[in-house]
Amino acid sequence: MKNANVTHKITQGMYVLTAGNGGCVVDAVAQVSGGDNPLVSVAVMKKNLTNELVKKNGKFALSVLGMNVDPQIIKDFGFRSGRDADKYAGADLGEAAGVKYINGAIAYMVCEVVDTVENDTHTLFIGRTIEGDILKDESPMSYGYYQEHKNDLMQVKTEMGKTAWVCTICGYVYYGETLPDNYVCPICGVGPELFEIQK
Ligand code: FE
Repeated sequence: MKNANVTHKITQGMYVLTAGNGGCVVDAVAQVSGGDNPLVSVAVMKKNLTNELVKKNGKFALSVLGMNVDPQIIKDFGFRSGRDADKYAGADLGEAAGVKYINGAIAYMVCEVVDTVENDTHTLFIGRTIEGDILKDESPMSYGYYQEHKNDLMQVKTEMGKTAWVCTICGYVYYGETLPDNYVCPICGVGPELFEIQK
């Protein structure tokens, strides 16, 4: 391939996919049929717990994140695993057709799984929308916008006068003059090489 970054030019959005008692942030969502209950596809990494939850429950919700989304929602659902944390604890959730969705989203849709396609890394779920609503009159955030602005969006405030190490992936702050060599971020699990010092 002349340039493997060509896929960065595909416009995708920012969504929280929820099923059962968990969820994760996804970007690969598309409408794949018309009609009153259109089919929607979503690709979910196989290693994500949410993938198992969708298969187990046969239903999922997609919550569409807007341009003014509370970054905490992205942190809570995107930067930690449901294997380590109860992602629903402290989250502001609604429920429709028996599936939880994110109240801070601009829209949600609930789907019943009608087909799945496995590939090396992801499962493509195809779902029939059975419920949905628009919650806020706001523009959706694109994945490209998020990538371009994530440092500002995720900006972390640290306490004055203290040496802080900020996780560049999730924004977790560790206070201390030095960061232990074998340190592991308690939120997202990355090592010390992905922390940046802030004085
Ligand atoms: Fe982290």
